[in-house]
Amino acid sequence: MEKSIFQIPVKTINRMKFYKKSQYWSAGKLSSYQDEQLNKLIIHAGNNVPYYRNLFKEIGFNPESFKSREDLQKIPTLEKETVRTRKDEFIADNAAKFGMTNDSTSGSTGTPLHFILSDGVQANKIAALLRSYNWAGYRIGQKTFSLQSYYFPESEFKYNRFYNILRFDSNKLQKRSALKVISEINRFKPKFFMGFPFDILMLARFAREEGIEINSPQSIVTYGETLSDVKRKQLEFEFNCRVFNFYSLHECSAMIAECEAGNLHLIDDFAYHEIIEEDGINRLVGTSYYNYSMPLIRYEIRDNVELCDTSELCECGRHFRRIKEIIGKECDYIQTLDGRFLGAVMSHSIDNADGVICSQCVQHSLDEVDINLITDSRFTSNSQQKLEKDLRKRLGTRMKLKFNIVNELEKRPGGKTPFILSRIGNEYI
Ligand SMILES: [Zn+2]
Repeated sequence: MEKSIFQIPVKTINRMKFYKKSQYWSAGKLSSYQDEQLNKLIIHAGNNVPYYRNLFKEIGFNPESFKSREDLQKIPTLEKETVRTRKDEFIADNAAKFGMTNDSTSGSTGTPLHFILSDGVQANKIAALLRSYNWAGYRIGQKTFSLQSYYFPESEFKYNRFYNILRFDSNKLQKRSALKVISEINRFKPKFFMGFPFDILMLARFAREEGIEINSPQSIVTYGETLSDVKRKQLEFEFNCRVFNFYSLHECSAMIAECEAGNLHLIDDFAYHEIIEEDGINRLVGTSYYNYSMPLIRYEIRDNVELCDTSELCECGRHFRRIKEIIGKECDYIQTLDGRFLGAVMSHSIDNADGVICSQCVQHSLDEVDINLITDSRFTSNSQQKLEKDLRKRLGTRMKLKFNIVNELEKRPGGKTPFILSRIGNEYI
């Protein structure tokens, strides 16, 4: 992609200008934009995407007849499983024209999924994400500390001069490395923290145990796992600052961000969000307007939300719809023999495994973890070896790993299937 003088692609800069304005659109203008984008996407999918060409024929849906969001309901929702098993059918015949970047995710349930993103959707994602961070007080170039799964092969942390950001790899989070990064934070004095809430809290705990203070930022943006009320309160207490919840996914099918007024908004100019109520559960279903290389229409995200009990306009003045809470992405963490703590980052290892449908890690003792897998016919001893190699990079060579092919995974009393189950007690949560 063409880069501007600011090292940011020109496409992204243009979208940043767009999002700056669109956040204050009237409800009417926002609705017509949504209809227009969906209309274009559906016609493109009907003409150029094999899966949708066939589906529309099968269900007797004429893309040219699409008028507005209500017509979306004529198209069935799309399961991850369908994308996983029939990926090639979702790639547009003319995808090369829009740019093709491979990406993958295993999501909160440990189900690996590979897909392709266009240049356009990536530019939109960065621009919309920066706007959400901006609501939390972030500006490009402001001193920032970030703690998430980076997978730096050699170092624990890295500094990027352009973004003025100190990045720490959460895979290497242990007391010794944490104390080192705390002293870096105290020297650097970042105004803004971002990353996985569990890991940021761990830093505070380590500091407390050692009786040292951490320089508090002006605000913290968390993502990657559920920000429970308990975690939010703990973070606010430890760092004495505002905490902003942020949610997005690699597939770019949804984005949720907390505004200055403390309310969670569906970012309706980035993706079209539907909330489908069934048996008292509100499922989030999303459609990215911008991924022309591999359109996913009415994508079942498999995270649920709690609806907001008011439809009043938010104090922030934006017409984006509001929700009360994001439910999902909750799991225990694994403790390693060398004293590291691995939470949701563990799911990244599953990304490279072929033939794994769902997975769950169960820690029985400090040196013993079971990897329970639901697999299909593509799973071979080779995929298991690759998976083990990747898991060993995180868990170390001394951890006893046992792979079990199972028919179902263990559920919690509430019915949720956590990706990590700890039988040794997670003292930090
Ligand atoms: Zn608001």
